[in-house]
Amino acid sequence: MAPSHVSRSHKQQLFSVAFGSTWFGRWGYTFLRGSYGVSRDTYTTAIESLGSHPLTEVEEIVEKYKKSLTPLECMKDLLSFMLQMRCGTRGRKKMDLNKDLWTVYDKVLMRRKNHVQTILNCKVFCKEIPLRQMSAECLTVTFVVRDADDNELPGMVGCECTTLPVNDVADLKGRVTRLIQDTYHALSNFTITEMEGEGTDELKENMWVKGDGADMDCNYVAEGGRGWLVTCICGAEDDDGEDMVECDTCKKWKHIECLINDGFKLEDNAGFICLECTTPRH
Ligand SMILES: [Zn+2]
Ligand SMILES: [Zn+2]
Repeated sequence: MAPSHVSRSHKQQLFSVAFGSTWFGRWGYTFLRGSYGVSRDTYTTAIESLGSHPLTEVEEIVEKYKKSLTPLECMKDLLSFMLQMRCGTRGRKKMDLNKDLWTVYDKVLMRRKNHVQTILNCKVFCKEIPLRQMSAECLTVTFVVRDADDNELPGMVGCECTTLPVNDVADLKGRVTRLIQDTYHALSNFTITEMEGEGTDELKENMWVKGDGADMDCNYVAEGGRGWLVTCICGAEDDDGEDMVECDTCKKWKHIECLINDGFKLEDNAGFICLECTTPRH
């Protein structure tokens, strides 16, 4: 029986096919990178191919929705109409609509698993926010946050950029404290004990601050905050949240799926040594 609920990952796929972007694409987010070597081109091809698919496999559904103002010619037309309709629908009607979406998903998308998997492997989307117009009176300053023992904070936490008016450095410490606290959950109780050039009213492009109150054990440190060094055969160089294994020798991480596809036999609780480390160098 078709579920009456549409999960997040299904929603991601349905929206991608219907509108050519993720459901948060309406806020200007576009593809940044995919896992397992999925590129912008393969992502676009998957979306376009599914979107332009004819509706012959789901004619009974098309029959129900053909009151659409725009002609329903391909998957993209049908899904965008259904998803838009779903927005203003509640109760029984919404459950019926979800079931129909499931039927389309099952009969069309699921039979093109390669393209669906490509869409699922794209989780990193970004939005470019242009820097504010710089005036000569302003300076963009990067603050590196250190703990009281002078250690830089790990991962992506604790490096913050802001634009400050050169002639107005009053309460600089207070401003930077608020900036750091508002940006990182792990630093929401951070207090600055010392800061570069303190008391000199002098701004530099790169400055450091030291302080107490960083909670690096909290659950919301940063995405990709595992601090892994990644070099996978698929080309991944970032921790994308997929399952990975660390090489015992070089300490670099690789996707488990990529290794299995490459013929590696990975056993539970057994060590792993990557191909580069097992191949003798000449
Ligand atoms: Zn990989
Ligand atoms: Zn290795």
